[in-house]
Amino acid sequence: MSRPENLFPLFADLTSLPGIGPKGAQLLGQMKIETPRDLLFTLPHSGIDRRRRRSIREIELPATVTVEVVVGTHRPQKGRGPARIDVEDAETSFQLVFFHPRGDWLARTLPTGQRRIVSGRVELFDGVAQMAHPDHIAVPGETDDIPQFEPVYPLTAGLTQRVMARAAIGAVAVAPRLPEWIDPSLKDREGWPDWHDALAAAHAPQSDADLALAAPARRRLAYDEVFAHQLSLAMIRAERRARPGRASIPTGRLSAPVRAALPFAPTGAQERAIAEITEDMASSQRMNRLLQGDVGSGKTLVALMALLAAVEAGGQGVLMAPTEILARQHLQGLRPMAEAAGVVLEILTGRDKGAERNAKLAALARGDIQILVGTHAVFSADVSFSDLRLAIVDEQHRFGVSQRLELGRKGEMADVLVMTATPIPRSLSLTQYGQMDVSILDEKPPGRTPVQTALVSAAKYDDVVNRLRRAVDEGRQAYWVCPLVGESEVSDLIAAEERFKRLRAVLGEARVGLVHGQMPVAEKDAAMARFAAGETGVLVATTVIEVGVDVPNASIMVIERAEVFGLAQLHQLRGRVGRGAAASTCLLVYGAEMSESGRRRLDILRETEDGFRIAEEDLRMRGAGDMIGHAQSGMPRFRIADLERQSSLLAVAQTDARRLLSDDPALTSPRGQAARGLLWLMEHDKAIDLIRAG
Ligand code: ADP
Ligand code: MG
Repeated sequence: MSRPENLFPLFADLTSLPGIGPKGAQLLGQMKIETPRDLLFTLPHSGIDRRRRRSIREIELPATVTVEVVVGTHRPQKGRGPARIDVEDAETSFQLVFFHPRGDWLARTLPTGQRRIVSGRVELFDGVAQMAHPDHIAVPGETDDIPQFEPVYPLTAGLTQRVMARAAIGAVAVAPRLPEWIDPSLKDREGWPDWHDALAAAHAPQSDADLALAAPARRRLAYDEVFAHQLSLAMIRAERRARPGRASIPTGRLSAPVRAALPFAPTGAQERAIAEITEDMASSQRMNRLLQGDVGSGKTLVALMALLAAVEAGGQGVLMAPTEILARQHLQGLRPMAEAAGVVLEILTGRDKGAERNAKLAALARGDIQILVGTHAVFSADVSFSDLRLAIVDEQHRFGVSQRLELGRKGEMADVLVMTATPIPRSLSLTQYGQMDVSILDEKPPGRTPVQTALVSAAKYDDVVNRLRRAVDEGRQAYWVCPLVGESEVSDLIAAEERFKRLRAVLGEARVGLVHGQMPVAEKDAAMARFAAGETGVLVATTVIEVGVDVPNASIMVIERAEVFGLAQLHQLRGRVGRGAAASTCLLVYGAEMSESGRRRLDILRETEDGFRIAEEDLRMRGAGDMIGHAQSGMPRFRIADLERQSSLLAVAQTDARRLLSDDPALTSPRGQAARGLLWLMEHDKAIDLIRAG
């Protein structure tokens, strides 16, 4: 299948548009506008009211005014000053002002005694109203080139509004009328216009209301964008699910004893997630699911239940973590629970070498190891499983695409579960993970005491250290996080080492430990182990402790220069405490040069511990583009849709896209055909390849 012919004009050269030559095309290219199609989807962001007024007196100045005037005296330039022309509207006189007018242009354009319509910004200078360089000058009766309401487009130097508007109208003119891809009942309910009409309206706004996000034409065009994206994600999902999978039917043989040995009852959210996952695993379709749960929401138990289901079905499971520390932590978390069921658990990381590693690999290949926990080392070519049925990937964003492919080779039909501890606002999770099914742990296990969060000025450093000393004397433990902010990692490490020395001097040599990313792994593990065992009271750390580290007795978190961290990161760091029974404290130490937004972040953190709320605030403050880098997330750059403010459209689009595909998997119905056209229009190559393949 190739691009439908009726779309050709939209993918033609920009120079096919009125008023656009090679220079104009190059300037538009700088704005990532390469084709008439791109221009169609570049909408005006505001508008200028150019309705005719009788007089500039009708409007409070300064303002943009459009009035008919009688041209009076020309006052030529004096020295470096501008040329001025007196003009008179129906009620008052004012001046037109021109800097560096060329030749006799003024005399020709504004002859004394004649009537002209002028439009531009009028300001008062020393009590004299002036319009400098009118945007428009027209002869009455020939005025139709001054629009009543003029759209304002994003521009780049060298382009003018006039050129943009003319080219955009030209692009609308070559746009075909396309069959409808939107569900008719949705379109009716929303009162949306047809695609072509929506484009025409969006490029010819008549008022500010037409420019609002809620304007039906713009909302429809935004929906087209997100619907196309959700449709391609839904196609990827459908394609993955259609690949042969394995039904791993849990018997309860292993999970029952584990449940019986648990010192607590799983939360409702955990039960829900376990049910969703094991149901997916039991079906012959391949699972591709995301488990989202804030720090401390109890993902480990859910992961274990899934792994046990794989083992019960006679296979193996693997859990992969992004770092050595996290892999060990997972192992420690899983082991006591898994022991209750007599399951064989092993770890494989970059540290495994030689004979010992060979023995592990052999046991894995024989199926003697049932659950493997590991790092990237699991991807090595010589690692093979006897029967891999489930792969759990912790924090997927740190794994590359090629590694995921490699994983596919190790267990061709294995189910995949991705775990993330980063709560993502619903809108982003739909755009980023729309091809997956999502389980959310939105309920925390009971019995946690909230973390007391306080803001402290760095000027009070001595107070902070004194409090810390008293707390450590009482047997409490604390993290002290130093940020990576300087020009180089080296200078930051020096800062952390400096802090380490100073705290040691005050609290005692043996009571303070240090971990940072540049340390040899063995030293790092040893420092972590001493802290976990309670031998050290304070652990000075760079952000290596951010994710996952679990020392229940640690109840104090000090974050130095907290204002330079992002909200999500602060939330993750704070999540390291409040894990045990004791009341916990988080001290956010801020520097003298805290920015306004830094302050707001810290305030939000003090207000709430709800990760999803924090993520929503983060999205609001930073914008979607920033929150997850486009390139790494594969998230599209939407030209029209506003993810922060139109998130409800996403959910509608996902449901609609999945329904369309389940009713018409090959997209052959009239609406399905129309939807194919939409995918071409939106350049969703991947989805298009799938259509081609299918
Ligand atoms: P996460 O990995 O989501 O950050 P964990 O799985 O490490 O969270 O669980 C955090 C802590 O909560 C652990 O100490 C775990 O034993 C405990 N926990 C998990 N589920 C429950 C539950 N349903 N009730 C009480 N405690 C729980
Ligand atoms: Mg965990």
